[in-house]
Amino acid sequence: MTKGKIIVISGPSGVGKNHIISEFIDIADLNLAQSISMTSREKRSGERDGIDYDFVSREYFESAIRMGDLVEYTEFLGNYYGTPVDNVNRLRNLGKNVLIEVEAKGAKAIKEKYPDSITIFIAPSSLESLEKQIRERREESEEIVQERLAKAKKELNLIGHYKFVVNNEDARLAGELCALIIRRMI
Ligand code: 5GP
Repeated sequence: MTKGKIIVISGPSGVGKNHIISEFIDIADLNLAQSISMTSREKRSGERDGIDYDFVSREYFESAIRMGDLVEYTEFLGNYYGTPVDNVNRLRNLGKNVLIEVEAKGAKAIKEKYPDSITIFIAPSSLESLEKQIRERREESEEIVQERLAKAKKELNLIGHYKFVVNNEDARLAGELCALIIRRMI
């Protein structure tokens, strides 16, 4: 059986990556499975352990780093996020195309480890529209909103590193475009 491909979906926090992914993740012929990231951040209401993330303590995450259990990891707004290597290998060996949703640093690290991965950047129409989305999405302190925006600006500068760029304005259309790209590339 041929090994599955790696598909990286990235883009600034607040751009609606998860919503867009939900538009195409279950399309049968794409043969996708999503990698579940490990994080040390607190679970938000409605999130499920083992489905949205593997929620772990900082200590556990740090031991996973030491053991080399992660393809990549990053610290974002004071919390760790990382991609478990076992999970990715297991799914690929089953022939699944593995979708990994990460921020920009993670995307770069994955591209370096797996040069033939398909990288898609989900872009906001403008920083103003992203700010609006971040403010609408959750009640966060002004400090956190500003941190997200500062990080978003840096991520937007890295747009040239991605193979494909998809605008986020219409989530259904964005999902269809991602599906089209993946279908052509797998
Ligand atoms: P949130 O706290 O909103 O769920 O996620 C914050 C950011 O972490 C998002 O931009 C998301 O793409 C990123 N992220 C989620 N999982 C991973 C991961 O495994 N590795 C990296 N590098 N970033 C991740």
